[in-house]
Amino acid sequence: MLDYCIEIAIPVPLQRRFDYLPLQSDDSRALYRAGQRVRIEFANRLMTGVVIATHSESSVPAEKLKPILARLDDQPVIDDDMLSLCRWLAQYYHVALGMVLELALPSMLRKGGSINDVLECHWQRQQPVEQQAIDTLRSAQQKSLWQNFQQQSVWQHSDLLAEGFSRGQLNRLQELELIEEIEQLPTPTVNQQAQLPLTLNAQQASALETIQQQLGQAKTILLEGITGSGKTEVYLQLMQQVIDRGQQCLVLVPEIGLTPQTIARFRARFSVPMVMLHSGLNDRQRLQGWQQARTGMARIVVGTRSAIFTPLADLGLIILDEEHDASFKQQDGVRYSARNVAMVRGQRQSCPVLLGSATPALESLHNAQTGRYLHVRLSQRAGHAKPPALALQSTLHQPLTAGFAQPVIAAIQQQLRQQRQVLVFLNRRGFAPLLACQDCGWMADCQRCDARMTLHQQPPYLHCHHCDNRMAIPQHCPECHSSKLQAVGQGTERIQSQLQALFPEIPVTRVDRDSVRTKQAFDDLYQSILKGGAGILVGTQMLAKGHHFPNVSLVVVVDSDHGLFSADFRGLEHSAQLIEQVAGRAGREQHPGQVWIQTLYPDHPQLNRLIQDGYSALATEMLQQRRQQQLPPFSNLAIIRAECEHAEQALELLGTARATIQQWLKQDQEARSPQTSSANSDSSVVEYQPQSSISVQTQSINLVGPFPAVMERRQGRYRYLLQCFCDTRRPLHQALDVVQQVLQKQSSLRKVRWHIDIDPIESI
Ligand code: ADP
Ligand code: ZN
Ligand code: ZN
Repeated sequence: MLDYCIEIAIPVPLQRRFDYLPLQSDDSRALYRAGQRVRIEFANRLMTGVVIATHSESSVPAEKLKPILARLDDQPVIDDDMLSLCRWLAQYYHVALGMVLELALPSMLRKGGSINDVLECHWQRQQPVEQQAIDTLRSAQQKSLWQNFQQQSVWQHSDLLAEGFSRGQLNRLQELELIEEIEQLPTPTVNQQAQLPLTLNAQQASALETIQQQLGQAKTILLEGITGSGKTEVYLQLMQQVIDRGQQCLVLVPEIGLTPQTIARFRARFSVPMVMLHSGLNDRQRLQGWQQARTGMARIVVGTRSAIFTPLADLGLIILDEEHDASFKQQDGVRYSARNVAMVRGQRQSCPVLLGSATPALESLHNAQTGRYLHVRLSQRAGHAKPPALALQSTLHQPLTAGFAQPVIAAIQQQLRQQRQVLVFLNRRGFAPLLACQDCGWMADCQRCDARMTLHQQPPYLHCHHCDNRMAIPQHCPECHSSKLQAVGQGTERIQSQLQALFPEIPVTRVDRDSVRTKQAFDDLYQSILKGGAGILVGTQMLAKGHHFPNVSLVVVVDSDHGLFSADFRGLEHSAQLIEQVAGRAGREQHPGQVWIQTLYPDHPQLNRLIQDGYSALATEMLQQRRQQQLPPFSNLAIIRAECEHAEQALELLGTARATIQQWLKQDQEARSPQTSSANSDSSVVEYQPQSSISVQTQSINLVGPFPAVMERRQGRYRYLLQCFCDTRRPLHQALDVVQQVLQKQSSLRKVRWHIDIDPIESI
């Protein structure tokens, strides 16, 4: 007889309920609580699952249910708040709850380890102690050790060893019953000498004043401040207030390795326990940080996207720095947006969420303009720095030297002569994007993708940046055997070597993923840049992220045109953000900054709007356009993507998805208004023309596609997508639920990889 069964979330991409039987020895249902981990067998594999609930009945016959293999926790490791946040995520992003819960667990816990595995040896002073015992202490070292315990009752074993005490001395004090050994979680490192806050300028002060009134409330605030306007200083002072209220702060940054300065500023300012969740931590350190946050020991937690799932005992503020950054959206597995999750978490825990950026995402600006968010602006640079002057430089019919127009070369020379630094931005790494035969026109293609191989020279090889395919550089053309193979176009390597040839006396440093592979390399590079003196930095978007290079007075954007004509409706937004961010690296201290932007289209209206009136003005224009075209944020978008070695199978799957949604819409409409005929239900679904198909019915879903991805073949698989636009969220998500159920049962198309992407940032 089945007393009860346990519903368990398992990290597999199947959206169904999984029931297990309790351990035979566990007669009480109360032993199983939501958020506890259990060990189970699933599809012949041992896995860690999370208890969701207990039920008196299961849809599976009792004799088919398997018992769990072990209970891993006595207490839930995922609390109710986090569990309910994860449930929301699973529903919103159409993924299995078990997959989401994986995000909420550090890897040691995912693998079945125990929270207690990260406790460390500590020594604690006994209370009371015998004076006689103290008198027995002879050596100066022992006395000095005892003195430590009089100042502070608990010491971490490793800290005492670092201070030069020995295990033997500790054992002696233990024998005398002065101290005892305990196991506990280590305290995060604390910086004892915190820097003082800066005196805020009037704009910063007023921004802080407005934001601090939201503490304790569920409000999202957009802090839109131009580059160098002192947003970070506002964050820091706000965080101090949260800490003074006895609460914790969670700060999300785009990429910790790439923002060492920001991290250093946080570290330097506070003398409270702080946890940095960066990629350099090992599993053990990660679990320690997680526990320190969960127990309330850490007052500040700084991390990247996934840190949004850090449990916090008393969360008082969430900050997303550079909120527009694409890294906040996960692009595989659970395709969540940390910004979205932050807002929902803030709502549920009555905690304000502060989004900061010089170039906010259009979504965020729209929410600010419609009053959903509080909108706070900083329009001047902090301190004495002035915003840089921006200028367009046409490269059309211009003689170019090393890819630069003559006036740009002259500007570079002038800055170098004055011992300043120049930043050259090109978002294309490698030597050249193309290797071509001059005699027959052959080009080095990737065999697995619809893409060209990028030519690298240091070291020399051909590399596909889409599938990581690598090849030796051929000596002769494989088609006509000519030896006239030529590198076409510019990459950062080539620009670097050309600039070095032009300015042999000047250090020319390259900053991209090939030259800077580790955090240490970046830190070293940083130090050399801060030393000052004339120099040129050539880099990709790695150089754009929030850095403060005091000596850079000139920024050159080699090629601004790449994103201007993108097939993706967000292409312009993203390239405008990038240009504005790179430009913001110029003139951040006493030297005035200038920015030269090279383009083949000097009359491009949006580029001119950006240069003359700034990002904010362009954003207003882009939003108007989105409204006219009923594109996000004025509608909701979900994309169903499918890829397969056999193109027709991927297309068939998306065809099924499309038909399912159409069918669902038809039924939904009939259910709503039985008198209307089914004939007009199809008018709510218009093919291939999202712009002309603005429907007045709120229930309509506009389906576009299936159509091929811009790169139709990647890694040997053909890729297609189906865009689903809808004015309101509900019907879209309802329809997707149905699609998902149908597709998960399509056993004939098992080879097709597919997924649903809600609020995608790439739509092509
Ligand atoms: P943002 O984050 O908006 O790009 P930062 O916070 O990095 O700007 O500030 C830019 C520079 O201005 C930094 O060097 C910072 O130390 C300085 N700064 C910020 N606020 C002030 C202030 N109130 N007074 C003087 N300098 C300031
Ligand atoms: Zn050839
Ligand atoms: Zn490839």
